[in-house]
Amino acid sequence: MRVAIISDIHANLEALRRVEAELGSVDAIWCLGDVVGYGPDPSECVDWVRHRCAVVLSGNHDWAAIGKLDPDQFNDAASAAALWTAKQLGAADRAYLESLASRAVENLDNRTVTLAHGSPRDPIWEYLSDPEVAAENFAEFSGVLCLVGHTHVPMAFALELAPDKGSAILRVEPPAYQAKRILAGARRIANVGSVGQPRDGDPSACCAFLDTTDWTLIWKRVRYDVGVTQRRMRSVGLPDVLWMRLAYGR
Ligand code: ZN
Repeated sequence: MRVAIISDIHANLEALRRVEAELGSVDAIWCLGDVVGYGPDPSECVDWVRHRCAVVLSGNHDWAAIGKLDPDQFNDAASAAALWTAKQLGAADRAYLESLASRAVENLDNRTVTLAHGSPRDPIWEYLSDPEVAAENFAEFSGVLCLVGHTHVPMAFALELAPDKGSAILRVEPPAYQAKRILAGARRIANVGSVGQPRDGDPSACCAFLDTTDWTLIWKRVRYDVGVTQRRMRSVGLPDVLWMRLAYGR
């Protein structure tokens, strides 16, 4: 089984369409949340995930758009985008976002895969960028793999038993783009990156693929026309800082 995992689309339909064209044959698509917020096409992106994804989680920006979270907790630009997004969503979009969980467990070939937007411990808010915070989160899920988004930075934390078996070693791994990352031998929390607003310095959209036949994970970058999304954002009046950052992947 080959599963595509996408996250943090952030209403960037142009990026999403390019990613869709590059998915190839997949048995399922999982979306780890933040379908909306920041970008110019929230309703279209909600519609896309509703029809295409086997699993869709909610993220903090989805919550803000439906009033489950106070946008005042965001910075000014994100808050302005959340208020704008809320006005674009129809009743069906809102009801759909309302129905989503922020954490899920999938069973594939007798293996358990945990999915969360931010972290297994605090799926809506916690950012897993710090190894110490990641280490604590390994106690918060069972099975060998947890897939997350939220930071918009593709990477992984791998927890391996030390040779003496008495302690564990935590490694920070870069995303594997060229060769598949073999998942055997360690428990992992892997971040699939962001489709609609990458923050690792590469403006191209990011997603990942889990293959259960050889139990591997590979990340993929997809170039899209950033200018199309930027012009859409300007035309609907979203804050300048939000469209400008897309060119830099920050
Ligand atoms: Zn996000």
